[in-house]
Amino acid sequence: MDNGNSDNGRVIQHWYDADHDPLTIVEGEDATVYDDDGTAYLDFLSQLYCCNAGHSNERITSAIAEQAERIPYVSASKHNDARTRLADDLAEIAPGSLSDVFFAISGSEANETAIQIARTIQDAPTVLTRWQSYHGGTYGAGGLTGDPGTRKTLERYAATSGVEKFLPPLPSAFDAETPDELAHQAADHVEFVIRNEGPESVAAILTEPIGGTSGAYPAPPGYFERLREICDEYDVLLISDEVISGFGRCGEWFGIQTEDVEPDLLTFAKGVTGAYAPLAGVVVDDWIGEEIRSGSYDLGQTFAGHPISCAAGEAALEVYRDGLLERGRERSPHLESRLRDLEDRFEPVETIRGRGLLWSVVFADPETGEPFVHPWVDPDADNPVAAVRSEAQKRGVLVGGGRPDVQLIVAPPLCVTREEIDEAVDALAASIDAVF
Ligand code: PLP
Repeated sequence: MDNGNSDNGRVIQHWYDADHDPLTIVEGEDATVYDDDGTAYLDFLSQLYCCNAGHSNERITSAIAEQAERIPYVSASKHNDARTRLADDLAEIAPGSLSDVFFAISGSEANETAIQIARTIQDAPTVLTRWQSYHGGTYGAGGLTGDPGTRKTLERYAATSGVEKFLPPLPSAFDAETPDELAHQAADHVEFVIRNEGPESVAAILTEPIGGTSGAYPAPPGYFERLREICDEYDVLLISDEVISGFGRCGEWFGIQTEDVEPDLLTFAKGVTGAYAPLAGVVVDDWIGEEIRSGSYDLGQTFAGHPISCAAGEAALEVYRDGLLERGRERSPHLESRLRDLEDRFEPVETIRGRGLLWSVVFADPETGEPFVHPWVDPDADNPVAAVRSEAQKRGVLVGGGRPDVQLIVAPPLCVTREEIDEAVDALAASIDAVF
């Protein structure tokens, strides 16, 4: 089959696979994708953490076809039944009093919308985000991103004004002896940053509840609870970026629910439609929704809340509700324990961390004990983990690469079977063996 990459009209967006040859993927079914030669690969990255419902789910594809036949597009200045129903569904699954939905198209735009709303409502200019975070690649969202590798590229292209950074709740960022100490130190540090900025100038904190492309790192217990208290004390809005962590990826509908904390705004994308169509948005607390409805914020994009995407979202949510979310939750301990075997077996595997079906295998140089640094951070650095990824691909398993420390990210669709987990982790073990 022609892989579509002719000499003219070449697609130049293979950046995520810059460290090895991209495949041409032409078909998929459940947790498996097929390349143009018909070779099968277990998709343990859900493409980009988004195909949570697996590939070729008929309920979702039929909903898309039905909507396209009925009416494909209705502008945001009118109501549309698919859009309204999806907003209802989202309000039902969102934490606490988050009830109103402002649709967007991509995760980047959802985050930009969230900070525009926060700045408008709070009449304050500053947004705080973490170092070692990813919030998007557009002009505004790129400025929110705190991943040092991405920032090297983005600092030339992103709007960074009005964005200040704080340290992530990672052991490497603090000098804490216990998770409890880490939670306190990391939260106190955020409080320090707010006070240093001047609380009245800080509109919001935007954070992933579980670090995503920076390496699937959950916060220590108690951190988010304290962050919530700090936000309340200083009248700062808490925005949870659920672009990766939503829709069952971390075991609940949204990652922040695994912390038992309620944000004021929540952004979503990727898994909302199972990636069958582009859709994103912001779910806001009802008092914020009321302000928006009264006309204090009036921006948007043509394809935000596209009816075909909303129909896909409605069907995907039904699929999650009808057992898929539960199934993903059931698979998580098996994936975790199989990945922990790698930690015991291979010296360069420093740690395994994550939640639900979002895991990171972090590597360290066995000679120095130091993490390998990603070449995006230091162009002269070795990246043996890129070789592990290539070996895994040769063995029929696709996994991702995290930054800034070198790591593998493992995030299969929620429909993955135990046998597929065994097969994929065995292939990863053989790949690590082949490289180190
Ligand atoms: N937020 C997080 C946590 C992400 O991981 C991503 C993308 O991976 C984004 C936002 C940006 O989403 P998009 O690529 O749809 O713009």
